[in-house]
Amino acid sequence: MADSRFRAVGEAFAKEPVCAEPPAPVTSDYYGCNVFDRRNMRKYLSSDTRQRVYESIEQGVTLDREVAEQVASGMKRWAQDMGATHYTHWFQPLTGGTAEKHDSFAEPYGKGESIEVFTGKVLCQQESDASSFPNGGLRNTFEARGYTAWDPSSPAFVMGDRLCIPTVFISYTKEALDYKTPLLKSEVAVASAAADLLKYFGIENDRVFSYLGWEQEYFLVDASLYAERPDLIMAERTLIGHASARNQQLEDHYFGSIPGRVLEFMKDLEFECYKLGIPIKTRHNEVAPNQFEMAPVYEQANIAIDHNLLLMSLMRSVADRHGFKVLLHEKPFAGVNGSGKHCNWSLGTESGIGLLSPGKTDLENLRFLTFMANVLKAVYDNNALLKSSILTASNAYRLGANEAPPAIISSFLGSQVTDAFNELLESRDMVKLRGKEGYSLGIPQIPDLFMDNTDRNRTSPFAFTGNRFELRAVGSSANCSSAVSVLNTIVAYQLKRYKEGVDRRVSSGTPMMKALLDETRETYRACQKVCFEGNGYSDEWKAEAARRGLDCETSVPLAYDVLNDPRTVELYRDTGVMTESELRARSEISWEIYSKKVEIEARVLADLTANHILPVATRYQSVLLDNVSKMKDIFEGEEFDEVASGEIRIIKDIACHISKARSLAADMEADVDEICGIEGERAKAIAFHDRVLPYLERVREHVDALEMIVDDQMWPLPKYRELLFIR
Ligand code: ADP
Ligand code: MG
Repeated sequence: MADSRFRAVGEAFAKEPVCAEPPAPVTSDYYGCNVFDRRNMRKYLSSDTRQRVYESIEQGVTLDREVAEQVASGMKRWAQDMGATHYTHWFQPLTGGTAEKHDSFAEPYGKGESIEVFTGKVLCQQESDASSFPNGGLRNTFEARGYTAWDPSSPAFVMGDRLCIPTVFISYTKEALDYKTPLLKSEVAVASAAADLLKYFGIENDRVFSYLGWEQEYFLVDASLYAERPDLIMAERTLIGHASARNQQLEDHYFGSIPGRVLEFMKDLEFECYKLGIPIKTRHNEVAPNQFEMAPVYEQANIAIDHNLLLMSLMRSVADRHGFKVLLHEKPFAGVNGSGKHCNWSLGTESGIGLLSPGKTDLENLRFLTFMANVLKAVYDNNALLKSSILTASNAYRLGANEAPPAIISSFLGSQVTDAFNELLESRDMVKLRGKEGYSLGIPQIPDLFMDNTDRNRTSPFAFTGNRFELRAVGSSANCSSAVSVLNTIVAYQLKRYKEGVDRRVSSGTPMMKALLDETRETYRACQKVCFEGNGYSDEWKAEAARRGLDCETSVPLAYDVLNDPRTVELYRDTGVMTESELRARSEISWEIYSKKVEIEARVLADLTANHILPVATRYQSVLLDNVSKMKDIFEGEEFDEVASGEIRIIKDIACHISKARSLAADMEADVDEICGIEGERAKAIAFHDRVLPYLERVREHVDALEMIVDDQMWPLPKYRELLFIR
């Protein structure tokens, strides 16, 4: 009986259409469809041309003009099939973000007709007026030309109506004006230094790459509220705003369920990312209210960085479609966490060997400890330089608070690697036992579980996490190239020094394995001070770090001095990544950008104070004054004192805050005017840091106090409690 009833129910269901709509496409159906990748090359390029392009991508072989013509012609046909009418060289000037100038494929032809043209020459190189991009004195005004040149290792893509060609951007005199050029050079340097050393471990003809997996944090705010905050529009952060009663103290946002409106935004964003071949993997709520994170699967650093820049620009346009504004600033709101962009960095070979991954044999583990020791030594010797690559006016607001590593670079290894190094330090003699060469390398067995098993220390700026280092100090708005090219460069330099050390030992008769072991031991010994396993947020660590000789400078402009240090110049010369004049230009540009950012903040705050806040506060004060004077008509003597004293106190408070805010804002503006006249970018930036930053805080104190007093109905700006909670 029961059986037949169930059967009847089953049949009734079977008659219903299982799915009314055709199934939604799965990601793999459209993944990479907007990219001129190998799949599309197969359709649009001959096999011979493709082969040459692959060689150029894989071996860095320069394409000759004829092949470039073939590629351009195929690329143009593909782009037109994708609906593109324009092309652009897509590059990364030192302003941050990306730049593009669109040119139409269409060209006049014959009498009143037009044809679509895209030549190999145009694909490979474009000349553009570089005079409006920061150059730090590299370019005389009479030689304003800049050149963009195709980077075939990062695939071209279609975005909207244009074909985008990733390019480097250099001056007429071939000096880098962008982030990509030094990044590519640093990749060559570290790949060749690592490959040279790998030969000693029996690995040859296996190309080395630096890999990067970034984790992008960001805030979303409602677009209509954003439009009412001139500080967010102009300075990308709130310059005033009293903390809301509830912010992140309940710790209920992190990994919480994603608000529906935000989820729709994320899904739309992921869809756009997948079409561009950006391998987004993870999405979640972050610690602060309205703060979120997105992370892909790691890729070769150059590609990963292009993808991160694309993501940042996609975020902005997709947010518009959902009535949001995305905030990539490192500290948009005081009192809640800011946003970083953790850079998971590693070195690996084409065949899949992770150079920062422990292995199974003694030799593999010696290789692991060797590369680890070299990375640590590089970071120890250049901790100030690495710090300079992540410090900006905006990131400085985030670092050192109780949410992000301080402006001191140290490394966390976890107990297993620390133990392995400690044993290495103690193992003096080589015992003839196992091992290919007949030696035991004296390296403790490192458990297989290791990779997923490393301890977590969230307070370390450069933490080892099993098969990579996680540089957590990078800011959310940054171009990761700045930090990654420094990492690649310092490691390349150190690997060369290490190899020289090994060669010296071998030439004086030490067997190769012992030479490697001894050199690794001494390398680690020399840089142990950079390792710190404790709480990086504590004040004790700041004192201890200073004792250890780590760079503890917190002034952003002073942190840039290291770019012109003779040791830095030698490092970049030796590795071929940048010349002395390119480094000098970068320091000039960094100071210039720093000054401009602080100047904008000061001017916006002065305007907000004088024209938005104080008039409203004065009006509210008048309402109270009016009320008090009317009370005088009703109440007398002690009775009046009793009913009016509270309001009178408020009137006095308001008067006091108004007068202080007014005079501080005026003094600040006068100082800004004076500082703008200072000669020399360094001196100017230092003055902005030392003289203007304190004003920003002091003016804010009075304005935020007024926010707590003035009638909420009158307050002219959306408050934190509105900005920070998406409804
Ligand atoms: P968590 O938040 O736990 O630090 P996520 O999963 O958010 O980790 O991000 C980790 C990132 O590290 C991802 O982009 C991941 O692909 C990347 N990653 C994993 N292994 C490596 C590696 N060997 N080299 C570089 N990046 C890696
Ligand atoms: Mg992480």
